Amino acid sequence: MILPEKYTEEMKSLLKNEYDDYLAAMDQPYVRSIRINTLKISPEEFMKISPFDLTPVPWCREGFYVNEDERPGTHPYYYAGLYYIQEASAMIPAAVLPVREHDAVLDLCAAPGGKSTYFASRLNGTGVLAANDISASRQNATLKNLERFGAGNIYVLSEDPEKLAGVWPEKFDCILLDAPCSGEGMFRKDPSLIKAWEKRGSEEYVPVQKKLAEQAVKMLKPGGYLVYSTCTFSICEDEEIIRFITGTFPEMKLQKIPDRHESFMPGVLPGFEDCIRLYPHKLNGEGHFTALLKKDGISASSEKYRTKIKIPAEAEEFMRLLKYPLPERITVRKDKVLLLPEISLPSDSLRVIRSGLLLGTLKKGRFEPSQALSFALSPETFGNCISLAAGDPRVIRCLRGETLQDDSDTEGNVLVCIDRWPLCFGKKQKNTIKNRIEKGYRML
Ligand code: SAM
Repeated sequence: MILPEKYTEEMKSLLKNEYDDYLAAMDQPYVRSIRINTLKISPEEFMKISPFDLTPVPWCREGFYVNEDERPGTHPYYYAGLYYIQEASAMIPAAVLPVREHDAVLDLCAAPGGKSTYFASRLNGTGVLAANDISASRQNATLKNLERFGAGNIYVLSEDPEKLAGVWPEKFDCILLDAPCSGEGMFRKDPSLIKAWEKRGSEEYVPVQKKLAEQAVKMLKPGGYLVYSTCTFSICEDEEIIRFITGTFPEMKLQKIPDRHESFMPGVLPGFEDCIRLYPHKLNGEGHFTALLKKDGISASSEKYRTKIKIPAEAEEFMRLLKYPLPERITVRKDKVLLLPEISLPSDSLRVIRSGLLLGTLKKGRFEPSQALSFALSPETFGNCISLAAGDPRVIRCLRGETLQDDSDTEGNVLVCIDRWPLCFGKKQKNTIKNRIEKGYRML
């Protein structure tokens, strides 16, 4: 790997006699890893059915390395949302944020949703997760990843954080600021970033990072936690930003990271050793920086949301197939029927891509259940399931959007599953299932 001279000089001065180890690590292939979606399956259960050889990631209970020749992104379990493909060091920032059930959580720079999916698992359907990113096109992927995970307690937005801070002051128990950065830690995984670094170095990112940090602090409740993370080694984008935060906002205090793994290196500025630096020559992962901060004060709990509307008549018959009473948080916006999160966020003036779980769409006297709802269900919560074994060739046909044959007695609206994990809804008549998998969720 050919690294720019300016960069190698900086790294020599940062790493000193470890620099050669770093260079040697850069010539090793990067190791693939996945993170299990505990909304659908426990890591222990997944290990029993895993099609891949798994090696645990030491700092993430849900994380596993897979062999170099595996392609986890092509397996039907991926399409069913059983795991997310995530680089092992990238699991750390979300693992470090102490998210608890019923919290209000904000992922300020979320796309494509890697860390958001982790928060969704940890919230376990409670509280609220607001996943924002300035890039609306990248947020399509965030929505898709969250929906595939079966997460419905979400707001997915594409808004300027300054505007968010005006509408949501002191709203969140936990905030992740996974900041845009010069990307030095990703050079091995994606060498094309070296060219981008030559064009746009730290100087371009620091002002953006400071601005984002200010907005994040404004939106944090007293007593709340903020994780600041980057995938770069540049001190001015890392420890210097933490110094900026604690200097500008004295109520923000740097915290020790609990269960700190021995391979995490301390921050390099005096007084900022509680930050962690991850280097590819020290652990099996790419380069990252993470710091945990807490705002002084005592956190008040968020107000729970309740609304009572009558379920539209077209949707009633379908809703009877759900084997649980729907919480009183259903709303109808234009033709969309939505189940809002437990904690509601004022969002009328914001660019919202999705609020809550899309249950389905009202269409000329009928109700069409959504792809997102199918992922949020299971054989325990939906009456009409057709379960295909993992090796059944109909699984691939289903994921390609083809019509399926089935000779079971189930009729009408059915939920087609791989084992017990939904892939999509279908409409069954006689022995034929008309497949309703939405285009963006198909196997190409
Ligand atoms: N957290 C993501 C994940 O785990 O999948 C990765 C986020 S990436 C490191 C940084 C993101 O910041 C990019 O998606 C970029 O679009 C977004 N971004 C850049 N400037 C921003 C801004 N001013 N406000 C919000 N997001 C911004």
